[in-house]
Amino acid sequence: MTALTLDGKAAAAAVKADLTERVARLAERGVVPGLATVLIGDDPGSHSYVGGKHKACAAIGVSSFRHDLPADTSREKVLDLVAELNADAAVDGYIIQLPPPDHLDAGDILMAVSPDKDADGLHPVNLGRLALGLPGPRPCTPLGIQELLVRGDVPIAGAHVVVVGRGATVGRPLAMLLSLKEPDANATVTQCHTGTRDIRAFTREADIVVVAVGRPGFLTADMVKVGAAVLDVGITRTDAGLVGDVAPEVRDVAGWLAPMPGGVGPMTIALLLRNAVEAAERRAQ
Ligand code: NAP
Repeated sequence: MTALTLDGKAAAAAVKADLTERVARLAERGVVPGLATVLIGDDPGSHSYVGGKHKACAAIGVSSFRHDLPADTSREKVLDLVAELNADAAVDGYIIQLPPPDHLDAGDILMAVSPDKDADGLHPVNLGRLALGLPGPRPCTPLGIQELLVRGDVPIAGAHVVVVGRGATVGRPLAMLLSLKEPDANATVTQCHTGTRDIRAFTREADIVVVAVGRPGFLTADMVKVGAAVLDVGITRTDAGLVGDVAPEVRDVAGWLAPMPGGVGPMTIALLLRNAVEAAERRAQ
């Protein structure tokens, strides 16, 4: 068996095409969605991620506002900017590019962000809303994974999903999202981590395996049920370039594969844009 590819580039293009139409409908009512970014420091990877977000905004007609601050910016200065963005009517949503430099505490800054403008869906209030199944911006990578499964016609409701990793941006919220009693969810979810005794015993039983650990080649073919959907979220920078968590031979066993690169990655930005457009749609109501 060779797995069907869950093509993140194509799915992200489809999401963006839909958003372009929604942005045009908002424009007819005089509303332009606005997304801002806050980047503190000189990390080249973060600069490139933020640049990609602004390009993506421009491509679908979303205004974007870039705030790049020097690495030694004080907590007070960052919080002043956050307060400004919370009050700025042209900004429907914004993100704090993580991680910040060591002298700043990401949790402390996130707490100051207005939950309704939290385009990343990572504010504790929004993670709480997600846990309770209440509406609110949801985390972009888990949303992107859900969207990729839906667009790839992978059944989610009733499926056994094994999520390996319980990080706050991917694994933990994904497990909450896919177990909600909602359309495109309602799965039985098992969360694995370093405290799990025999991860293989769980992944081998799964209809859908999502690996978000950041260990190159972590998921091997013997850990996957024939025909299962496998999504590779992990990204590790190595001498050979960026490497995912899923070993290449998994493609011969799985029914679907979201590869790294080209799977989940492109979806994250598309769903960030969707969060911003949805915030503007709420403003326009
Ligand atoms: P994180 O917060 O560091 O979480 C990693 C998780 O993996 C932890 O829960 C950890 O378990 C678990 N883990 C690590 N080694 C393990 C092992 N040997 N066995 C079982 N579990 C193990 O990282 P994250 O932010 O969730 O990101 C995870 C990966 O996804 C990273 O490689 C990141 O670069 C990538 N990522 C990709 C995208 C994308 O758009 N494609 C977006 C975000 C993140 P413990 O909790 O027990 O320590």
